[in-house]
Amino acid sequence: AKAAGRGSYRFFEPEMDVRLQRKRLLELALRTADYEKDFALHYQPIVNLNSKKITTMEVLLRWPHTPLGNVPPDEFIPLAEQTGVIVSLGAWLLKKACKTASRLPSSVNIAVNVSAVQFQRSDIVDTVTKVLRETGLEPHRLELEVTETLLLEENSDVHRALRKLRALGIRVSLDDFGTGYSSLAYLRKFTFDKIKIDRSFLTDMESNPAHRAIIDAIIGLTDALGVVSVAEGVETWDQLQLVGDSGCDEAQGYLFSKPVPESEMLRLFGNRTWT
Ligand code: C2E
Ligand code: CA
Ligand code: CA
Ligand code: CA
Repeated sequence: AKAAGRGSYRFFEPEMDVRLQRKRLLELALRTADYEKDFALHYQPIVNLNSKKITTMEVLLRWPHTPLGNVPPDEFIPLAEQTGVIVSLGAWLLKKACKTASRLPSSVNIAVNVSAVQFQRSDIVDTVTKVLRETGLEPHRLELEVTETLLLEENSDVHRALRKLRALGIRVSLDDFGTGYSSLAYLRKFTFDKIKIDRSFLTDMESNPAHRAIIDAIIGLTDALGVVSVAEGVETWDQLQLVGDSGCDEAQGYLFSKPVPESEMLRLFGNRTWT
């Protein structure tokens, strides 16, 4: 490029360049990561609104030690998917989470997010079966959270895998419900154990009657289907009141707890009776 004087053109948008460099750097860091050293599992409780007890802890992956500092999952999970790293990273995380679950009260399940790529590029049923055997965790204590991107394609292998997992006794939740284009169609094709209502409906439900109506409708639908409903992203008492009044079964959000490191979670359970 020519020496760029004031007002002259540039061949590269400097901003694009930085973003691309960041992506390359993170890709390299991902491929060469030592999962055990570099990643951490955080846990966030999901609470039953009738019993007021914790039913599930959702595992959320953290990547604090990168050359670029703490990188959020919304940035590195897509990269891990594009590079295929999610297959080994996801298998590592699943095993670690199931081991930890064995140390929790047996009334508490563990929820693990599973990417579509893990279904497409690996034998997820085989991975899960092995992990359950190695950790001794009862299948009904494992919940796999999938999003509808998984079901987007008319792929019968995916459906077969999901059915096999449920036949093993594992629970399957549909995450981020309501954000996609054809969520309702998937409810006909596959039976889920739980439906998690996307956080975006809760953010302004207090002031937005349309969002309240949608939440009511989703909960009515889950009741008709005999599926457990979960409200994601509950931050205020008003939101909790509203989703409770709508008949929602479970809730998750900062109001109860932010995701916390494993050690903190174990301390929490160690100090109280949760049975
Ligand atoms: P998600 O599965 O929908 O997880 C819930 C996200 O909402 C988490 O963000 C959580 O920290 C956040 N959250 C929970 N309660 C509240 C609240 O009350 N208010 C607000 N503002 N946020 C709340 P996080 O941990 O940044 O994860 C983002 C996404 O990254 C996850 O969304 C999930 O799609 C993905 N992800 C995280 N860990 C994993 C993983 O181990 N595997 C896969 N495949 N994806 C993961
Ligand atoms: Ca999730
Ligand atoms: Ca979600
Ligand atoms: Ca219900």
